[in-house]
Amino acid sequence: MTVRHVRACASKVPRDAAVGNTCKVPLGAIVSPFLSNKKTPMPMMPWQGKRLGSGVRCVRCRAMASRYCHVAEDRVTWRCALCGQQNKVKEADASRLLLMQTNHDNGDDEENHGSVSVMEWVSDASVSVKVRRTLVLLIDVTLDADHFEMLRVGLLDFLGKVLGNKDGPSRLAMASFGSVATLYHLGEEEGGEEATTSSVVEGDAFPVSLQGCIGGEEGQRGLAVATLEANLQRYFLEVNRTEGGGVSSGERERVLRRVERTLRAISPFSSRRNTPNHERPRCLVGSLSLVSKAIKMCEWSLDDGQQGGLGGSNQNLTSIMVVGGGNCTKGPGSIPSEDHPKFIHLEREALSFIEELAEFLTERSVVVDIFGAGHVSLDVPCLYPLTQNTGGCLMMYETFGKDLFAALESAYNRFIGTSAVMDFHLSADHFNVDQIVGPIKPVSAKNRRRAIAEGNGGSSGGGGSLLSDNAVELTSVEYDHGITLSLSMRADIPGDSTFFQVEVWYASLDGCWRHRVITSRISVTSSGREFILSVDPLAVGVTLAKKAMVDIRKAKYSRKVVDGVKKDLADRIYDIARNFSPKVRGDSGGIVARFFSKPTCLLKEELAILAEFVYHLGRTVAFTENAHRDEKTCFVAHFLRCGVESCARMVWPRCLTLGPQGPVALPAADIALQMEQHFLMDCGLDCFVWVKSNSAVGSTAVGDRERSILAKYNEYMWHFMLRGRFPAPEMHLCMEGTGNARYLQSRLIPTRQDTPEEQADQVRGLGSLEPGLRNAHITSLVSSFHCTDEPSFREWCRQTSLSCGSQALGIL
Ligand SMILES: [Zn+2]
Repeated sequence: MTVRHVRACASKVPRDAAVGNTCKVPLGAIVSPFLSNKKTPMPMMPWQGKRLGSGVRCVRCRAMASRYCHVAEDRVTWRCALCGQQNKVKEADASRLLLMQTNHDNGDDEENHGSVSVMEWVSDASVSVKVRRTLVLLIDVTLDADHFEMLRVGLLDFLGKVLGNKDGPSRLAMASFGSVATLYHLGEEEGGEEATTSSVVEGDAFPVSLQGCIGGEEGQRGLAVATLEANLQRYFLEVNRTEGGGVSSGERERVLRRVERTLRAISPFSSRRNTPNHERPRCLVGSLSLVSKAIKMCEWSLDDGQQGGLGGSNQNLTSIMVVGGGNCTKGPGSIPSEDHPKFIHLEREALSFIEELAEFLTERSVVVDIFGAGHVSLDVPCLYPLTQNTGGCLMMYETFGKDLFAALESAYNRFIGTSAVMDFHLSADHFNVDQIVGPIKPVSAKNRRRAIAEGNGGSSGGGGSLLSDNAVELTSVEYDHGITLSLSMRADIPGDSTFFQVEVWYASLDGCWRHRVITSRISVTSSGREFILSVDPLAVGVTLAKKAMVDIRKAKYSRKVVDGVKKDLADRIYDIARNFSPKVRGDSGGIVARFFSKPTCLLKEELAILAEFVYHLGRTVAFTENAHRDEKTCFVAHFLRCGVESCARMVWPRCLTLGPQGPVALPAADIALQMEQHFLMDCGLDCFVWVKSNSAVGSTAVGDRERSILAKYNEYMWHFMLRGRFPAPEMHLCMEGTGNARYLQSRLIPTRQDTPEEQADQVRGLGSLEPGLRNAHITSLVSSFHCTDEPSFREWCRQTSLSCGSQALGIL
């Protein structure tokens, strides 16, 4: 499969700006800058001494030269593809220019997706960078003894795995939250069993009472900070790594032993008073604040030389991983109960504390990942700034089991670098950048200064900053990132093509600076048909969905706003279909009907996928009524950071059954429930395995048969589908007749209401049967389904005045 760094909403744009801005097809693209193409590796361009790469730039628009630029035959000038400027070819540039022209990634499919050129410069040994990874584990000590034991075993297993990695942490710390925030003496020199154990008892282990740390007396706070500073070396355990980045088995044992002793010395929550889980004191945010103070101090004492910033030679990548069983109930960042007399004041204070803390962490590239388990709400919307703004993730699991710790591991391994800065160049005067959605933050003052210095001293001539006004920093660097760029047209485009270019610099974990330049050529067309044929329905769907999710999250998922957004999306599909369809069927009703109802519009094949995507979007947890705010926020948080493929998977469920001949794709419609004995539905963050109840036994208890089916799908997914996928989905068994089955049923298209003819159209495989036989077969298939208020895809189209003709339901 072709690796696509840029998925444009349409590979062609209309010549006429008025058409472009009113046709309802969003203009823009989703950029996945960090994808790598293993089959056709990207050409590596030689880095020439400069810290920020050494391409040739246009003096006018500062875009990089690419294979689309034209070099005059006499090699005296070259014409910039983006702005048309004739640049002088400097002697030093001539050979590089030639290289940039001929060297390009051939992996893209020009015919169908437009033309894209990808180049990458990789720094050599003279410009190396050291990325130091610090891992801070933040654990909940209010768990019951059995859960805490699962947490202890799981954490040690996780640590054992990541320590062995090449990119494992070189510094480790551990803190906990309960009624107090505690930072443990992991880094303490080993002095016999007793001394180490005693280092975690209260009094010695720096139990900062929150009143002392924040908001308390000035003197107490000073004391807390002084204690922290004096003991800094004891809190951070240095992991001795070998030259190649690994750790010896002895070192691994030493680290694990210390962590294990500390974990064993923590006494689980005393449930003598029978405090219910949601009332237990958890100072989650206060504990994060304590850790952030320690991290800040490390910047001064543990690192020297130039660090941070674009082109710096030392970079820190710090992850704080929070594993907890409930929301923050104590200390700063906790929200009181709604009947509290000062609720509004206290809520505002808590939220602004969280915002400030998030800002502090974001500035220092500290990523906060929060993992929740158990049945207590995490109050995810409240914690959202801490994870989303820092580039972290929020995940919830049923229990402290295998899935959670596998997620911890894949979360740790998802990074491929740090300190990324991204910039966009657009063909002069053709487009405006309206909105950028993704894991981004503003460019820091430090990086702006650096870009100006580099731009002025650069070999490419011309002064000014390397970065344009469109530049952003990324909160984290991961393969699956998708940054969505929304554009609007400024004027008609005179030529046959227009260009846009994405530049990204980042420090990769292997110790190089990388500068990747992705240039995309977009053809210009005057023909509406050509334009609509070039539309990428998934890219359009994902772009619309990301915008919609930003809106509904801001409105706190209010029913009114969600309904409005859903209606707007449906209207938009109608408008797009209508704009590009010459055949609009007039309504046969009277004058009144003609005035008040829209004429039915035939949905063309190229737009059917888009319509079905939007239909599924309305049925995801973000848009439905019966999901918890935590679930909605987690879903939206993942969706906004992912590339097209992952987003499509989260919206459009994919079903498959494992038959004797291997996997067979099924339509994501309820008819699949009756067609197969068992199948799997992949919804991105969750996978559901459906097993028909064994009617001979008549039992809904999970037995050996069900367990072995689940294991079979589990194995298949881990072997073939989940490699490199982050986050790995949680697997659920849904047996016919059990409560779990409703999760699966709520995502399948209810087709019960449709006629057998319509069903045969929708489900490939049934269409080939002889009509009489087919109808009888379908009637028996759907006879057991419950009636539902939810419209089927056909009905939804009818409500939107669209007719999908005999289009089959797509199988993505
Ligand atoms: Zn230019």
